[in-house]
Amino acid sequence: MGKCDILLRTMKTITMKIRPDAGTFDEKEEEILRRAGKIIKEGGLVAFPTETVYGLGGDALNRASARKIYEAKGRPSDNPLIVHICRFEDIFRIVPEVPAAAGRLAEAFWPGPLTMILPKADSVPYETTGGLDTVAVRLPSHPAARKLIAYSGGYVAAPSANLSGRPSPTEAEYVIQDMDGRIDMILDGGKVGIGLESTIVDLTVVPPQILRPGHVTQEMLGGVLGEIDTDVTILSDGGGQAPKAPGMKYRHYAPKGEMAIVEGPREQVAAYINGQVEKDRLRGERTGVICTEESLDGYRADVVKCLGRREDQESIGRNLYSMLRQMDDEGVTRIYSESFADRGFGQAIMNRLLKAAGHRVIRVQ
Ligand code: AMP
Ligand code: MG
Repeated sequence: MGKCDILLRTMKTITMKIRPDAGTFDEKEEEILRRAGKIIKEGGLVAFPTETVYGLGGDALNRASARKIYEAKGRPSDNPLIVHICRFEDIFRIVPEVPAAAGRLAEAFWPGPLTMILPKADSVPYETTGGLDTVAVRLPSHPAARKLIAYSGGYVAAPSANLSGRPSPTEAEYVIQDMDGRIDMILDGGKVGIGLESTIVDLTVVPPQILRPGHVTQEMLGGVLGEIDTDVTILSDGGGQAPKAPGMKYRHYAPKGEMAIVEGPREQVAAYINGQVEKDRLRGERTGVICTEESLDGYRADVVKCLGRREDQESIGRNLYSMLRQMDDEGVTRIYSESFADRGFGQAIMNRLLKAAGHRVIRVQ
């Protein structure tokens, strides 16, 4: 951690527990959520669980709050924030003209892990949109998130609640690691369900374009919209081309160790990785492998982490960021990961993995 980081940990951060899947909240939880909402209304910051990852929430219509979010995360201020709402009709205050396609997508996938880029109304400060004339809007499904948004006045700007450049937090413990002393409150709702950030679709272009893959897949969006495009930088390094979502250009989701993805038939992948691990060891590196249950026993690295069964994309997505953080915690300096099919939700998994590895892919035969 840098000097700057130590200097910024000057606030008292309160952590409060909320049951993760409560359909209704008890009196104590209501009180906690009301208190959290009041903090946001008064210009403070609260980290909270959503179905994707933990968010770092501030009042989206208050420019000072948006500035505070960038500061707490150490995030570049040209990287726009997603505005979270809790009822569809609230969109009309921040988007002057809602296209029919947005209505259809909302009908199909809201509440849920889908973010839409739309033209912004004057009510949304440029601090929230990173200077853009468009705004990113999402209506999450997590009950505590929605209640918090309602208590906060209806519009909560919330990027992932990690320090910029770290993997997004999938449980409160990781939020505490990154944000303790930098924000007012953390709502601890346990482990999140999806584990990767929302799908982002840009509806200001024709045809609409996916800027970030997520749990709502290209196939699902295509089923509602018909024609849909994908930003070429999603699964390649784009040959130097800048991604369309400003935030996607930064080296996100990065573990501290140097990481490579190894692709090929299972046995050859294991043989290659084990060979590398031996060489790395001689150089004094601490090695780690990210793999699936099927191949777990075949690796000889210092730390071996399993994401779940290869066929179980939900489990792989849910565990990925946590495994990357655990590699850091265990002091791993060289990480090798198996590769995954990039179909369906696998597109989001491979997108995050490729970013974590800085697009280093080794193909073995
Ligand atoms: P995070 O909040 O960490 O999930 O990151 C939000 C992502 O949404 C970043 O990659 C942003 O670049 C992207 N985003 C937010 N607003 C816009 C916008 N108006 N246009 C394009 N991308 C956006
Ligand atoms: Mg993020």
